[in-house]
Amino acid sequence: MDKLREECGLVGICSTQYQPLGTKLFDGLMSLQHRGQEAAGIAVYHEGVMTYFKNTGLASEVFNQENLRPLNGSIGIGHVRYSTIGSQARKNAQPLVVEFKGGSMALVHNGNLINAVSIREELIDEGHSFTTTIDSEVIVRLLSKNYKGDGLEALITTLKQIKGGYALILILDSKMYGVRDPNALRPLVMGRTKDNEIVFASETCTLDLLEAEYIKDLDKGEIVEVSGSDYKSYTFDDTKRRAVCAFEYVYFSRPDSRQEGRSVYEARVRMGELLAEKDSGEYDLVAPVPDSGIPAAVGYAKAAGLPYTHTLIKNKYIGRTFMDPTQEERERLLRLKLGIISETVKDKRILLVDDSIVRGTTMKRLVDRLKQAGAKEVHVRSCSPPIKYSCYFGIDTPQKKTLIGANYEVDMIAKQIGADSLMYLDYMDLIEAIGIPKEELCCACFDGQYPMEVPRVQSRYVFEKF
Ligand code: SF4
Repeated sequence: MDKLREECGLVGICSTQYQPLGTKLFDGLMSLQHRGQEAAGIAVYHEGVMTYFKNTGLASEVFNQENLRPLNGSIGIGHVRYSTIGSQARKNAQPLVVEFKGGSMALVHNGNLINAVSIREELIDEGHSFTTTIDSEVIVRLLSKNYKGDGLEALITTLKQIKGGYALILILDSKMYGVRDPNALRPLVMGRTKDNEIVFASETCTLDLLEAEYIKDLDKGEIVEVSGSDYKSYTFDDTKRRAVCAFEYVYFSRPDSRQEGRSVYEARVRMGELLAEKDSGEYDLVAPVPDSGIPAAVGYAKAAGLPYTHTLIKNKYIGRTFMDPTQEERERLLRLKLGIISETVKDKRILLVDDSIVRGTTMKRLVDRLKQAGAKEVHVRSCSPPIKYSCYFGIDTPQKKTLIGANYEVDMIAKQIGADSLMYLDYMDLIEAIGIPKEELCCACFDGQYPMEVPRVQSRYVFEKF
């Protein structure tokens, strides 16, 4: 499917008890599988001993009863990965576990560092060696270098040296740490279970699954240090503006999650309502592109007083697809993924709602197929404004030249995808639907206003040479 891709999902649990944490972390990873399908891993720690297992594949493919059995401890962290930097090789799976002068350390990372290349080159010049080709490794190498007997101090020194969008969970100095970047670009929430365990996760759906009561979204530039069932909060940088990723609400987060206390589902429904309020066309029905267009289609149908109808049916049993498929494979995969209920389509004027349009290639095929199935008209509505700029903060965006919204006017895009009409959600309506002030959001893929100076070339293209 033609989508922007979130890089990773993180989960961490700190308990006062030695216990089979691997199973809980595995469940957490299953709830975050939508954030990365290429690799999964878990590291657990107890009294100086780190045990871990990671491999390429879905969490359900990587883990089984046998390899979960030894994953016992009092602190544990887990990761699901989609690669924006570094290859899909097993060596690049996380958690990254290293032995250093402070003992064993493990790290999981969601996001991208925009200065990872220069740090990596400096460290190599100093004689440090790297075992992966991912930007996350510069964090553990810097931590090892900066460690002078105090984990928190080394962490603060390290965080002042890196730049970009990131959420981290670490096991360091027999404690668990959660960290959010100085702009709060990448998400990280925190909760407490009824057994008094502290949980960090990329989304609240994981807290719900683990029956953890929500405590808070970590703030920009915040470190939370967890020891047993107690935690302390520190700010390592409060000089930057909050810039919460708007796309978490458009597509990345699960609809049953809340980010910054705002329901993702409700934000998406509101996106649909606001689209409908500005639309004066006549249609017979509103249909979503499943699953990402469903909440907004519900909102649109309700606001417009039109029937909400399923025309496309998703095959839930199609897992991962090949990276970089050929044109022919894409066509085949789309047919495998989405079927059409021709009875609901024939002779109808369809209002088709999706979360976003990236290259326009999938949408063109969907419009073609709906018309082949007998649709009289297909009108496409996108719940995000045109995507015009690449992301540098942990989201896999195609280069600008392949973003259809960056290169063509709306009328021209409608023609290219074969739609009878096309409308994007207005930029200010997106902000209203999310419910967070514009000054506290990152909307850079729509408006090019990055919350920090970004390099000319995305780090992922530079990392390809390693
Ligand atoms: S550029 Fe877009 S995808 Fe990247 S953090 Fe900003 S809003 Fe999110």
